Amino acid sequence: MSELPLPPATRTLGASGIAVSPLAWGMWRLAENGRTAADAADLVHAALDAGITFLDTADIYGFDGQGGFGDAEALLGEVLAADASLRDRMVLATKGGILPPLPYDQSADYLRKAIDASLARLKVDSVDLWQIHRPDILAHPQEVARVLDDAVASGKVRTLGVSNFTQAQTAALNHFLGTKLATTQPEISPLRIDCFENGELDQAMLLGLIPMAWSPLGGGRLAAPETARDKAVAAALDVVAGAQGVSRTVAAYSWLMAHPAGIVPIIGSQNADRIAEGAQALKVRWTRQDWYAVLVAARGVPLP
Ligand code: NAP
Repeated sequence: MSELPLPPATRTLGASGIAVSPLAWGMWRLAENGRTAADAADLVHAALDAGITFLDTADIYGFDGQGGFGDAEALLGEVLAADASLRDRMVLATKGGILPPLPYDQSADYLRKAIDASLARLKVDSVDLWQIHRPDILAHPQEVARVLDDAVASGKVRTLGVSNFTQAQTAALNHFLGTKLATTQPEISPLRIDCFENGELDQAMLLGLIPMAWSPLGGGRLAAPETARDKAVAAALDVVAGAQGVSRTVAAYSWLMAHPAGIVPIIGSQNADRIAEGAQALKVRWTRQDWYAVLVAARGVPLP
């Protein structure tokens, strides 16, 4: 039975040489449930202590439709201000470009202000990765590229990424950039498999982008599947989870990590034990047969 390779201990952000853990932890839901800076610090420590050093946030995280824009960054900023040693232990990623109620703004003026505002909230001089959260169809990629290259040149941003971009949008922005893109961040999970066959992951491999998978558990649906399809995918993951003594969620992360594009799942849990448990995904072995069984369950129809 043909075994797929285990993920490497680290992956590298583009040409920057910055090493990231092969799993990330995301803070979309950090500023919820009345979480304090002390609570947030516990979660940051849970991730770092488990070797999950790639941390993903965004300026919009915390926004509830009315207010809260910047709240997740600000909470992390409090954590970083309270313990200066933490910043060096993490590769810090954030995003901008969504501006309610517009919905998107990637004009030069706005992008400059958004990057500065993120650094101020995070209480840091620079971030390791700055991503455009969703494409602004009204922004010319050459103008966007100029602002992002300036941000790199000024030292405010070390590497660049995109999220929710089409392949053509990614290619156009990358064409104009001096510092080429290092990451792309689409939704990928065993329940969201479009990018395995629509060319997105092939483009990532072509351009050397790390694909960061958002909602790797389908926003939690894999933990409690309801539809027949979701249950079939969960059952296919459970075969490998059971055989290797890990949870279904760990199997799901490792399934993504077994893809040759080097997918980095972004763990979305805000529970310290579940964050730490994610690191077990580095040890799960997939065979081609088991891997394809999950894909076929998600497709609902056999491969040709
Ligand atoms: P997810 O891993 O698919 O879902 C996480 C949710 O599942 C949490 O609410 C978690 O609750 C729940 N869950 C239930 N059982 C779980 C278990 N056994 N193990 C782990 N989680 C379990 O990820 P996500 O939160 O939707 O997204 C992950 C990250 O992706 C975000 O933090 C953000 O960084 C990024 N993201 C990016 C975009 C984008 O447009 N670029 C969009 C969405 C998300 P508990 O907290 O109670 O464990």
